[in-house]
Amino acid sequence: MKIAIPKERRANEARVAASPDTIKKFVGMGFDVVVETGAGEGASLADDSFVAAGASIAADEAAALKDADIVLKIQRPLTAEEGLDELALFKKGAVLIGHLAALQNKPQAEAYAKAGVTAFALELLPRISRAQNMDILSSQSNLAGYKSVLDAAAEYGRAFPMMMTAAGTVPPARILVLGAGVAGLQAIATAKRMGAVVYAFDVRPAVKEQVESLGGKFVEVDASAARDAETKGGYAKEMDEDYKRKQADKIAETLKKTDIAISTALIPGKPAPILITEEMVKGMRKGSVIVDLAVEAGGNCPLSEYGKVVVKHGVILVGHANVPARLAADTSLLFAKNLLNFLSLSYDKESKGLTINWDDEIIKGTALTRDGQVVHPALAG
Ligand code: NAD
Repeated sequence: MKIAIPKERRANEARVAASPDTIKKFVGMGFDVVVETGAGEGASLADDSFVAAGASIAADEAAALKDADIVLKIQRPLTAEEGLDELALFKKGAVLIGHLAALQNKPQAEAYAKAGVTAFALELLPRISRAQNMDILSSQSNLAGYKSVLDAAAEYGRAFPMMMTAAGTVPPARILVLGAGVAGLQAIATAKRMGAVVYAFDVRPAVKEQVESLGGKFVEVDASAARDAETKGGYAKEMDEDYKRKQADKIAETLKKTDIAISTALIPGKPAPILITEEMVKGMRKGSVIVDLAVEAGGNCPLSEYGKVVVKHGVILVGHANVPARLAADTSLLFAKNLLNFLSLSYDKESKGLTINWDDEIIKGTALTRDGQVVHPALAG
């Protein structure tokens, strides 16, 4: 069976869906692996490193995907409307695995079905212990949370730690992390390591203990309302108007004393909640920084702009696109390992191919298309 790793072609993407380590494992499992030339460039991985691991190199994407039984991608294929119909290069019956942004791109799932491609959207992976080592959202958010603090530090015209010097004392930076999921918790840990005083806020009450264990101070809004803030899957729910008002007051009050806000709040399949309004930005000190990690989902602050660093009301708003790709060498290795672990779930030692257990909750949670049909409950019908 042949696994293909094409070069990622979406804007702001630098990652690659395989590493020398995962290729070695795939080859050991009996797969042939072909990598499109230059696919690893953005992640500092040369063609030679893939060849040394046992892959062959294809001169272009068509050659890589020709006869490929499995296609590993970071992001969903480009469409004809976007200038290149990548799906047209897939063979009928091929398996596609990657971050397919399926809930935001329903017509594309129909296109996979029509092309006879069996697609797995890894962003829909159930957040269960057994799936932890396949969890691309966690592996990528973790590094994005770290990078968000470095991006804030690069824009902030002051120091993070308190410094007592003969010439006077530099006060520590005060950081507020909004949304303490995987990215937020890593942002808290990173900012603490850099010497900042860190506050954090989340609608899910379970997070309080985690924030405090990292040395952050938890900003509490309404503990009784927060009890109902979590879905069975551990995700945040959209909160009611009363809670939103109380939350806005608390955030406004905290932001006045904050130098840097890092916002990471997301609600799966929905636009990101607005947490920092224009009024709140106006109330912040000049030279303060807001890093909006949710900018791709519409942003937690309406003033942040996707792919840009802008200054509004004297506050620097950082809206970098695709933050995980800003650390492509590391995030690629982790993403590639997530893909290897996901594929290993269906690996059949006897045939050295795939036997997919369609009843497995990990498979059911991620399968978009099968036998020419859209099968995912969130998309079918
Ligand atoms: P996410 O990226 O969907 O959201 C980021 C954070 O924003 C979350 O903590 C969320 O509660 C918070 N948020 C949403 N709306 C908000 C609002 N209005 N105000 C403030 N905060 C708000 O979340 P995530 O990082 O992907 O984590 C989601 C859940 O999955 C967490 O409970 C996490 O612990 C869990 N998880 C489980 C596993 C596993 O067991 N396999 C792995 C990773 C994450």
